[in-house]
Amino acid sequence: MKIISVNAGSSSLKFQLLSMPSEETITSGIVERIGDENGIFTIKVEGKKIVKELPIPTHNVAVDLVLAALLDLKILSSFDEIEGVGHRVVQGGELFKDSAVVNDDVIKRIESLSDLAPLHNPANIIGIKAFMKVLPKVPHVVVFDTTFHSSMTDEAFMYATPYSWYQNYGVRKYGFHGTSHQYVSERAAAILKRDDLKVVVCHIGNGASLCAIKNGKSVDTSMGLTPLEGIPMGTRSGNVDPAVIELIKQKEGLTVEEIISALNKKSGYLGVSGISHDSRDIEDAYVEGNKRAELTLAIQTKRIADYIGSYYVYMGGLDALCFTAGIGENSSYLRKMVCERLGVLGVKLDDQINSSVRGKECLISSEDSKVAVYIIPTNEEVMIAREVMRFIK
Ligand code: AMP
Repeated sequence: MKIISVNAGSSSLKFQLLSMPSEETITSGIVERIGDENGIFTIKVEGKKIVKELPIPTHNVAVDLVLAALLDLKILSSFDEIEGVGHRVVQGGELFKDSAVVNDDVIKRIESLSDLAPLHNPANIIGIKAFMKVLPKVPHVVVFDTTFHSSMTDEAFMYATPYSWYQNYGVRKYGFHGTSHQYVSERAAAILKRDDLKVVVCHIGNGASLCAIKNGKSVDTSMGLTPLEGIPMGTRSGNVDPAVIELIKQKEGLTVEEIISALNKKSGYLGVSGISHDSRDIEDAYVEGNKRAELTLAIQTKRIADYIGSYYVYMGGLDALCFTAGIGENSSYLRKMVCERLGVLGVKLDDQINSSVRGKECLISSEDSKVAVYIIPTNEEVMIAREVMRFIK
């Protein structure tokens, strides 16, 4: 059975065609710069990348392009081979505690959450509608970044703000990267052959969040109402005192929107280092002795360790610490810097293994570590395809 996992953003559309239940990737790709004269379409076939530049004015054109390529490249002989489509949706709010088969009511409910995710939910809906137009007969399933965190209790998800903000506008922590945290923590449980685990997943990529998982359920996570909260990321600040906004408004004459945009797009690695949002550039500069690059990594790794310490206390211990996503899977520096700060919890890395492994599942703690530390590559597309299968069944 073939299933497509789709992740539609405002100007991009990522897709992966999977064979289920074997979970093998048949092909994957991305359409970028949708709405632009210079659109880019990339598709991977048998390990080779095919890249085309062409105008891609709308999401409908992007979807047509992807599906036509699947036929032209003989990846599919007909669209009838696709038996389900899974769509990533960023914000499910309190309306969605599970994935759902798309119908008019589901679309309306996702639309009603657009205030909470103005950049993401509308783009997700455009992607869903475009695919439904071309594949109207198969089930379309929406999988939310937030549902895995719906097991958090109110003491973990409430802000200490006026209660009416929560009641009237849904102001609370929702958390994101849920499919990734779920995938990685389920892998940890499978590796350790135990369901009663206390796990922290560090999803550290361009966006980054941590999640505390007890007995398979998310009990706390670092992102909040939006993906801006938590640890510093490629271009996002993570937590700051909200009073910064008033000060910068006065000093630089910026609007609140402009300041929030700077906290989202000009902060984090990029803002502190002044070098780049990309961890590879930061690490290269750090190795060459650049002090701002060193500070950038120190701020982020301190905050990551702070969260892990607080989750240790909240869960009453820690069995496994898992690193995932672009930086978590590839950067031995980041993992070492974080784990060195966790020595007091009995976390010990095997330095030789840590520095030699990247991008593949591996135990990287030493034999006498009190916590098992793993690299576990994430796979959000597989998680989405599994959800489609669950609903098809
Ligand atoms: P993601 O958002 O999960 O795709 O992760 C993107 C981040 O992963 C970027 O900051 C990349 O620099 C980082 N990354 C990818 N490969 C490596 C690597 N080999 N070493 C360090 N960072 C990497």
